[in-house]
Amino acid sequence: MVSFEELLKRNEKYAGGEGCFDLKEVKAAREETVKGQHPEVCIIACSDSRVAPETLLLAKPGEIFTIRTAGNVVDGEETLATIEYAVEHLKVKELVVMGHMSCGAVTATVEGGNEEGHLKYLMEKIKPAVDEARNALEREGKELNKENILERAIRINVMNVINEIQTRIPKVKELADKGELKLIPAYYNLETGKVIILE
Ligand SMILES: [Zn+2]
Repeated sequence: MVSFEELLKRNEKYAGGEGCFDLKEVKAAREETVKGQHPEVCIIACSDSRVAPETLLLAKPGEIFTIRTAGNVVDGEETLATIEYAVEHLKVKELVVMGHMSCGAVTATVEGGNEEGHLKYLMEKIKPAVDEARNALEREGKELNKENILERAIRINVMNVINEIQTRIPKVKELADKGELKLIPAYYNLETGKVIILE
């Protein structure tokens, strides 16, 4: 089992372009986990092709239970059920929601385009974070340009998703309150390759 803290140390290697695992280690991990998985960490991340948690955190088979949706939003029964499975059956100890720099889903919401079909729905989910970002920047007397709004909205969206998970899945809140499940907001910087924990 590997903790998120340990994974962040591996991310330092990834960001620095240092070596990955020997494929023999990956093979060993695969063989060890044939009969079952016992991941300690569940990560909810964006589907963006540049932000695969297993790659950024140099995770081997069996180490991370991953859920990915555009904009790392959580709403549908499938996503909620998948989180419940991780928490109640796999008994993960850490639940990480990871947003990322230049997120396309959040960008589309900031730009407020007229998306059709299901995308429209996704943008409605992210919109509260964009509104809150504008308000926060205004309060702080910061410039309301697209870049500032976007970067702030990405972070607020992560916090909103963490809140939503606790509201929609009472068991998550219960375990978090008891200190048995850590809820971790995180952010991935495409430029530096680093994953950080948000304050
Ligand atoms: Zn994204």
